[in-house]
Amino acid sequence: MPNTETTGTQRIKRGLMLIVSSPSGAGKTSLCRRLMADHADLDLSTSVTTRKPRPGEQEGREYHFIDDARMDKLVKEDAFLEHAAVHDHRYGSLREPVERALSQGQNVLFDIDWQGAQRISAKAPSDVVRIFILPPSMVELKRRLIARAQDEMAVIERRLQRAKGEISHWAEYDYVILNDDFDRSYAELVHIYHAEVARRSRGLWIAPFVDELMSETI
Ligand code: GDP
Ligand code: ADP
Ligand code: 5GP
Repeated sequence: MPNTETTGTQRIKRGLMLIVSSPSGAGKTSLCRRLMADHADLDLSTSVTTRKPRPGEQEGREYHFIDDARMDKLVKEDAFLEHAAVHDHRYGSLREPVERALSQGQNVLFDIDWQGAQRISAKAPSDVVRIFILPPSMVELKRRLIARAQDEMAVIERRLQRAKGEISHWAEYDYVILNDDFDRSYAELVHIYHAEVARRSRGLWIAPFVDELMSETI
């Protein structure tokens, strides 16, 4: 189905923003990657961060890795849709690529924290769908952070200490997925995505289409 809006003879496209948050290690990056791989109508908002790349992370794929001075400059230039300090580092979602994708009818996926979710929702409440990913337990969260084997133990401990703070924002989200079994959680994410795209189509172009249909003479 085209993600388009009909106004008379003109079709205007505008995508939706899908925001996924969770405590570190709950599985949001794994779920988001798979959703991206399976949906050509979905673009990832590649955040800017001041944290150092983890082993295997590539500039421009997981993040744009920059230093504090460059971050300050981007903030001053108003280049961010939102930016926030998370786990001792700064992260931000760039405005321009997101706006461009949305105006082309692409949907945009954000893997961002609760602060970013609040800020983007406040700016464009009707264009946003928020999903929170919960771990099955704190013990399992720790196990996954250790199993991922990408952060030092001190970093893992800090992330675990902050996990409850992130989880305390769960009720601000439209949907919650308990990520115990990965495939089941992924199926749930896909269902939410498809339902929300269909709901948006209803408002964006199906209602005007029905008007056209009703005005046709048989
Ligand atoms: P992860 O939690 O293990 O995926 O670790 P990351 O270092 O990738 O992300 C750290 C935190 O920053 C997570 O809570 C992300 O959701 C959040 N984050 C990443 N990018 C952004 C962004 O552009 N804006 C905001 N507000 N938060 C972000
Ligand atoms: P986040 O982006 O939320 O920090 P990741 O997607 O990096 O989390 O997942 C953290 C670790 O847990 C990864 O090693 C990932 O493969 C693993 N993982 C994710 N979901 C599950 C799951 N349902 N069951 C077991 N392991 C999982
Ligand atoms: P990590 O450093 O493990 O990749 O990410 C840590 C946290 O930062 C994750 O919870 C992630 O969702 C969040 N994060 C990543 N990019 C952004 C961003 O652009 N904005 C905000 N607000 N949070 C982000």
